[in-house]
Amino acid sequence: MSQNRGLEICVVCAEPTERAGRADDSLFCEVCDGGPFCASCFDEHSVECLRKDNTALRGENERLKKLVEHAGHTADALLAEWKKRREGEEDGDGD
Ligand SMILES: [Zn+2]
Ligand SMILES: [Zn+2]
Repeated sequence: MSQNRGLEICVVCAEPTERAGRADDSLFCEVCDGGPFCASCFDEHSVECLRKDNTALRGENERLKKLVEHAGHTADALLAEWKKRREGEEDGDGD
């Protein structure tokens, strides 16, 4: 019999995680699905990974906000253009 069955190595520090697979409460990151981790690396990774995830979300929010702002400017410009044309048509109607 070997004890190697299910022996897990931490992906960060290469130490055995002392767990054996997801069924044995292995430490996998819920955010990026990375792992397995030993307990101390899991703590470090979780903090790091959550921060990265938040940054990515914030970046996406900023991008969407800019898109919406840009669309708003475009709509304003089109509306102004349309109003100008209407006024021009009315002016030219008095012949
Ligand atoms: Zn580790
Ligand atoms: Zn992660």
